[in-house]
Amino acid sequence: MADKTLPFSRQKLEEILSKYPTPFHLYDEKGIRENARRLKKAFSWVPDFREYFAVKACPNPHIMRIMQSEGFGADCSSLPELLLSQRVGIRGDMIMFTSNDTPAQEFLKARELGAVINLDDISHIPFLEQHARLPELACCRYNPGPLRGGNAIIGKPEEAKYGFTRDQLFEGYRILRDKGVKRFGLHTMIVSNELNVAYHVETARMLFDLVGELSKDLGIRFEFVNLGGGFGIPYKPEQQAIDYEVLSRGIRDAYEEKIRARGLHPLSIRMESGRAMTGPYGYLVSRVLHLKDTYKKYVGLDASMANLMRPALYGAYHHITVVGKEDRVRDHVYDVTGSLCENNDKFAIDRPLPEIEIGDIVVIYDAGAHGWAMGFNYNGKLRSAELLLREDGSVVQIRRAETVDDYFATLDFSSL
Ligand SMILES: *Cc1c(COP(=O)(O)O)cnc(C)c1O
Repeated sequence: MADKTLPFSRQKLEEILSKYPTPFHLYDEKGIRENARRLKKAFSWVPDFREYFAVKACPNPHIMRIMQSEGFGADCSSLPELLLSQRVGIRGDMIMFTSNDTPAQEFLKARELGAVINLDDISHIPFLEQHARLPELACCRYNPGPLRGGNAIIGKPEEAKYGFTRDQLFEGYRILRDKGVKRFGLHTMIVSNELNVAYHVETARMLFDLVGELSKDLGIRFEFVNLGGGFGIPYKPEQQAIDYEVLSRGIRDAYEEKIRARGLHPLSIRMESGRAMTGPYGYLVSRVLHLKDTYKKYVGLDASMANLMRPALYGAYHHITVVGKEDRVRDHVYDVTGSLCENNDKFAIDRPLPEIEIGDIVVIYDAGAHGWAMGFNYNGKLRSAELLLREDGSVVQIRRAETVDDYFATLDFSSL
């Protein structure tokens, strides 16, 4: 069972609400740090284990600074994400640049920062060479294509736009080697929000096997494999979080069998997890503006899918509680909606909740990754603030809410 309780008291929340208007995202620093430490501890047997926090999941410099202080790097995929990392002071091989369809300017910036460049396609080798020179260390992203006994959750890698085919991988590393690249890494990412440890272990086994084959075939030595992100979180209370110790044990067995036994040790293991690093430690806090009773019962919040798009985009479940009514029976059924002129602007459909009143504070869980970050301005919705609950219990605003002036900033009224 996943813990769906708040990391702050009701009194603390009242204090926060007296200072900051809803809606806002609130991140729990203690939760983020404890999770980061659990991950590091579980993989402490790995030489130079490293997690590159996927910046896209929660692109806030304060969150990135927390990650940095836990020894994590940054996984970037765009120029602004690279610039954010630079501003935080993350540089060199603490940045993994995993992009696709990449503009030349972004490769240039990544090279300037000394980032580890993860190539998405074989054609990017000459492209990178032409625009930004080849680095000493290069990594390629593998797409395994149709997986034996294809799995509904793994999906169909052959339909994903990412990565090299197997043949291209051998050819790509050969080209890189012949062009003087000296150091190598191998990357893949084939699952998303996957709670089943077996799939992540399987991914590691696949990469370890490939490292063996590529090393033998091409006479090159790999420094790391990067398992990508895609580690799931228990959005539903009845789901179970990934046990990092179990994950680590599975990967360690594969490492002993496929890496150490073949004399390929030391090979480092890298990850670029986003969701599992901050997802469970972020809360979208919102207030009930309206109740509506027509063909269904509706709760109208002051937040909308512009603050958290996952339910509307993927039909994703996000747990919801009503502050102060956590222990009441959930004997009412509501659609919990935002104010966008889109009928899919619903945080929950037919959700059993305690009776809700106007003014109630509603908390939407697991909004710490791919939450604020996916926000948008459609319908003139302004992005909300981000707050950080520090380990000492204090709360700081780490991003203010947008104003109408921000929304108008790119418009030219003068030529009207
Ligand atoms: C999105 C993404 C991640 C992070 O994924 P999570 O599901 O947040 O762990 C990591 N690497 C790449 C290449 C991605 O596209």
